Amino acid sequence: MLLDLLLPPHCLTCDRPVGAPGQLCAGCFRSTHLIARPCCAGCGQAFGAMREPGAVCAACAAEPPVWTEARAALVYDDQARRILLPFKYGDRVETAQPLAAMMARAGTVLLARADILVPVPLHRWRLLGRRYNQSALLDLALSRLSGRPAVPDLLQRRRRTPPLGPLSPARRRLALAGAIGVNSRRLDLLQDARVLLIDDVLTTGATAEACARALLAAGAGSVDVLAAARVPESLAGSVTG
Ligand SMILES: [Zn+2]
Ligand SMILES: [Zn+2]
Repeated sequence: MLLDLLLPPHCLTCDRPVGAPGQLCAGCFRSTHLIARPCCAGCGQAFGAMREPGAVCAACAAEPPVWTEARAALVYDDQARRILLPFKYGDRVETAQPLAAMMARAGTVLLARADILVPVPLHRWRLLGRRYNQSALLDLALSRLSGRPAVPDLLQRRRRTPPLGPLSPARRRLALAGAIGVNSRRLDLLQDARVLLIDDVLTTGATAEACARALLAAGAGSVDVLAAARVPESLAGSVTG
């Protein structure tokens, strides 16, 4: 940390110097794929061509998500992994700031209508190993940017779950059944609230769905989802996390 003060700040994903900590250099910014409209209102996946507002992809049309709307800042590709993996596993907690700024731009509408910002919870055993919940760091950073209250302990993991990527949708639901619950001490905050669920990577959507179901069952008025990155639909089954 002291070194950070003595050395000029460098790019989030390479060694080039930049103007301020947490920035990307021009070259890395160009290779960062921000998800812009048009994108699916259900899952945040980018559409290749122009679509009418509120349009959903084939998967969301076949099985509408339990949440109202989802957005993500980045396509989860190699460059997004260079930003997200050190943040998730490598103690690069300062990355929460620039990521939250990108998420705030993608999720302007969702933040504006949110009553509370709630992160996807991490099981306490994983929390011990990693020492922090990356989604909770994003939640707090987004709260500072938007002025919306963060409630980082509203959702709780009741038990550990296996990696969901390789499982079929039915098995994912089974693996997650009862795994996520609402903190009984926070129930009053939840009644009829518009909740914005904060996630780092939206993969199959199964974890976000389990969170949204728990929130709605405990009295939330509605749930939107804002993620740092969205795994493209075609890859969602092969990525863990
Ligand atoms: Zn760079
Ligand atoms: Zn969709």
